[in-house]
Amino acid sequence: MDSEQLYVEDSYLREFDATVVRAGPRFVVLDRTAFYPEGGGQPTDLGTLDAEGKACNVVKVMKRGPQIFHYLDGDIQEGAMVHGVIDWGRRFGFMRLHSGEHLLTGLFEAAGSGPKVFSSFSQLDFKPSPLDEETVQCVGRRFDEVVDLDIPIRIYYTERDRLDVGDDARKQSFLEKMPPDVERLRMVEIGEHALTFCMGTHVKSTGEIGRLRSLRLEPKKKRRKIVYFEL
Ligand SMILES: [Zn+2]
Repeated sequence: MDSEQLYVEDSYLREFDATVVRAGPRFVVLDRTAFYPEGGGQPTDLGTLDAEGKACNVVKVMKRGPQIFHYLDGDIQEGAMVHGVIDWGRRFGFMRLHSGEHLLTGLFEAAGSGPKVFSSFSQLDFKPSPLDEETVQCVGRRFDEVVDLDIPIRIYYTERDRLDVGDDARKQSFLEKMPPDVERLRMVEIGEHALTFCMGTHVKSTGEIGRLRSLRLEPKKKRRKIVYFEL
């Protein structure tokens, strides 16, 4: 039985009820879950699963095929009804950083950064890139302006054949790697600043991302440029 991914439709869902459809030593699969599994650059959610008064800590969540495995510090029986609670402070921090990463990537691309080859919650990696200090500072100011404007972050679905990735090599290779039966893509749009496909969890508007605490350029060999950021 597939696990319904509640976090895809509502990234603000902190608690939910579900049924254990598969159980083993220190793990369960649920019919539905709000726990985000490790993937797409976002770490696993943590939290608790409470089964009839007995609470287990969720120490790791992983998606294996259509099922989502919750690894626990105890055992819960198959068929049990559980109440799940997400460690919200941790998740919301990841949602802010991940949404900030999308916005920053979009602003840098608009500023002519060149193709991004890697990104994480703390860095963007461009290669090759003409980025200089002045452009980085300018993007940093623009980022804070967009945060202050509190623009909605919109999620919608599009047909795979209708998506135009242009000459973006990273997006082209992402599309090629996606299984052919995936026809609908989940898009994330931040005003005119960022548009990409993504299955991750996002905040609802740029105000929730918050302003940058730091933004730093580090030139590397072969015109590779790394930008480090903190929120
Ligand atoms: Zn995303």
